[in-house]
Amino acid sequence: MTVAAPTTTAIDWAAVRADFPVLTREVHGKPLVYFDSANTGQKPNAVIEAVDDFYRRHNANVSRAVHTLGTEATEAYEGARAKLARFLNVRGDELVLCSGTTFAINLVAYSWALPRLQPGDAIVLTRMEHHANIVPWQLVAQRTGATIKVAELDELGRLDLARLYSLLTPEVKLLALTHVSNVLGTVNPVREICREARKRGIATLVDGSQAAPHRALDIAAIGCDFYALTGHKMSGPTGTGALWARREHLDAMPPFIGGGEMIKEVRFEGTVFADGPRRFEAGTPNIAGFAGLGAAVDYLSALGMDNIEAREQALLERFTAALGEVPGLRIFGTAPDKAAVVSFLVEGAHAHDLATLLDLEGVAIRSGHHCAHPLMQHFGVPATCRASLAYYNTFEEIDAFVAALNKVRTLLA
Ligand code: PLP
Repeated sequence: MTVAAPTTTAIDWAAVRADFPVLTREVHGKPLVYFDSANTGQKPNAVIEAVDDFYRRHNANVSRAVHTLGTEATEAYEGARAKLARFLNVRGDELVLCSGTTFAINLVAYSWALPRLQPGDAIVLTRMEHHANIVPWQLVAQRTGATIKVAELDELGRLDLARLYSLLTPEVKLLALTHVSNVLGTVNPVREICREARKRGIATLVDGSQAAPHRALDIAAIGCDFYALTGHKMSGPTGTGALWARREHLDAMPPFIGGGEMIKEVRFEGTVFADGPRRFEAGTPNIAGFAGLGAAVDYLSALGMDNIEAREQALLERFTAALGEVPGLRIFGTAPDKAAVVSFLVEGAHAHDLATLLDLEGVAIRSGHHCAHPLMQHFGVPATCRASLAYYNTFEEIDAFVAALNKVRTLLA
């Protein structure tokens, strides 16, 4: 399938970077090089100010108060839902606001899968899943007697599609997979995969945590049943995220967590639950956080996701070429279609030692298993280093990173 190249416009990336106050910091007396955006993204002033403004001027609870502040708080919260829905090309009444991907996947596990699955049923996962898209399904499997099957990878760190499709047999009720790997950067062809699953009557859940920050998303076009994402990786506040689900699923799913806001009427004889997303939004939400997420969506939309993707691809290209010059460096994940996430090891150096010494040079990367133990087992390593870039990074930072890496590599040799 040929994919049209994204339409891009010229952006002043230096001005964009200046929107991020934390990026002006020094760490251990060196300018910060923040290459850990797959872990959490940095926040522009617009997001920080939206959270600040909410507490300074509008703070009230949502949906309960008729007073002005209550109305404004509700507008901020519902405004975020509407903005996110437009950003994802879905309907707002199919979008459950929640604390992030982990909650979103657990909601599907407990509310959709648990009542449905039976002994003999199966769930298909992939080797490259984050623990957030493994452990909830193990809990479901333990309780229902269902089994889990795993789709394996090829040598470039892509899904072996032929083998994946051969796993999609009649007992499979759900295929849960990541859109973009948080370790390898691999972008999975989720549209094609979801189409194949759908043909076989299998529901699909896509973990979009690492896709939403980097590419224009059209969830309606992907054709999945559930799509989970997290706000803090999209330049938004922590503790924000969403689950998109087809309305027919939302209407059929029982509540996951009970409490205020998710009901129409409560009597001791029984409770009538709210319709749609609200049924799954019990209690006081992270209103200030969603005011910030709304601002993050505005910020990303103003830049244009196609521009962001093009910028990050240019950074990735330069970064990969520069790493290729570092002696003894091995990259994990070399799929042709990948996000700006690079996992690597340097011969003779432990991942944590490298990351600790790089921190002393002002460079922030992640080291460890990246919440992907099965992927580490596949590669036969306990940990890797992971450098993950975002649109606010620069080519100069890549040079600084490589210089720092060469310095610490020789120290460890
Ligand atoms: N899935 C993927 C692919 C991730 O990268 C992450 C976060 O690292 C998660 C799920 C979990 O997201 P959260 O901690 O925001 O729930």
